Amino acid sequence: MTTIVRNLQHVRDRIATACIAAGRDPASVRLLAVSKTFGVDAVLEAASGGQRAFGENYIAEGIGKIEALRAWQTTQPAAANSRLEWHCIGPVQSNKTRLVAEHFDWVQSVDRLKIAQRLNDQRPPHLAPLQVCLQVNVDGGANKSGLPPADVMALTRAVAQLPRLALRGLMTIPEPAIDFIATYTLHAKAKAIFDHINSSGVLPVPMDTLSLGMSADLEAAVHAGSTMVRVGTAIFGGRSGAAIARKTQRA
Ligand SMILES: *Cc1c(COP(=O)(O)O)cnc(C)c1O
Repeated sequence: MTTIVRNLQHVRDRIATACIAAGRDPASVRLLAVSKTFGVDAVLEAASGGQRAFGENYIAEGIGKIEALRAWQTTQPAAANSRLEWHCIGPVQSNKTRLVAEHFDWVQSVDRLKIAQRLNDQRPPHLAPLQVCLQVNVDGGANKSGLPPADVMALTRAVAQLPRLALRGLMTIPEPAIDFIATYTLHAKAKAIFDHINSSGVLPVPMDTLSLGMSADLEAAVHAGSTMVRVGTAIFGGRSGAAIARKTQRA
């Protein structure tokens, strides 16, 4: 077994343990493998371990991998359910919306109507609607993207009108908090917004995705109600100084 496949199994075990501790069904939380900065080989390794959903932050880098992996997919038997699903989880500028609409399956980082409108207009007709999450800035981090919680309802209503987008849920990237309780509290804020929207009746179809939690805080996110954790480091290793860190660990 490769390191990536072992790491994947470990992350799945962490998710299952957290679900059981929280009284939730382990199948209620999806794992998004965040492959940013890692190459096609790393994605293929994770795919060989059964992983299908991948997240990318940088659009050109992500599209490079999406195109390279299409070739791999065509070599797989249809029954193997080998189709990979690609999520854009990084900031999207106006001049990149067409590329995103043409290549990705999901965009989790929508925080402005203008971007949503462009993604809707540019989604090619032969593809399924683009699956989207609204990114919410739950902790008020000044330099971060994401909508203020007070603006989520209005954008929800507007995005629900766009026929080439399927509004699936909310995503947050809070700053690391000091302990489990503080982290849980931030994630619970996102869950409260999510529940409020779903119970308000503004959406014809309720949202089903609450994208909360990363390598360091997935347990707190699962306790708060996350349905999708986005995990990079715990699967692929550190994104800088990785080789040095590995050597130090082994020494
Ligand atoms: C990089 C990134 C992740 C993964 O973070 P890790 O700490 O490496 O698990 C998750 N979500 C977003 C939006 C990211 O940019």
